[in-house]
Amino acid sequence: MIDTDKYEGHTPAPWIVTRAQKNTILIASEVLGCSDCGSTEIYTHANTGGKEIQFPKSVEPNPFTIDEGKNQWGDYDMYCPSCDLMDYTKPVDATQNEIDFELIAAAPDLLAEVKELRAWKKFVCDLVKQQDGPHLREMLKELIE
Ligand SMILES: [Zn+2]
Repeated sequence: MIDTDKYEGHTPAPWIVTRAQKNTILIASEVLGCSDCGSTEIYTHANTGGKEIQFPKSVEPNPFTIDEGKNQWGDYDMYCPSCDLMDYTKPVDATQNEIDFELIAAAPDLLAEVKELRAWKKFVCDLVKQQDGPHLREMLKELIE
């Protein structure tokens, strides 16, 4: 099993991966984050459905809504609870994330493990369809151990 913990903190999906000059690869994220701290735990019109939101201990004590569409500077407005700030969003910066490189390098191993786990899942599903009762439980217990 691959240690997936070592990929914690990678750029959230979906990614935009493009080939640049001299065979370099550019990674960008479509995920929007806080323009100040980069947190993706933000409130936008899209994820609030345009409904009023309120944070009692916020510098914005009254209920407020976030406008739909882009503002006059071409960005989406957002509220970031981490910063307690009304500001604008920007795509998460993926250019300096070293974990992304490790994840890309591990892609063949991760793909192999997905294939292996799918085969394992099919084997167990077929087994469950064919068998039933205490005999099945005993067989599954042996497989797990
Ligand atoms: Zn923030």
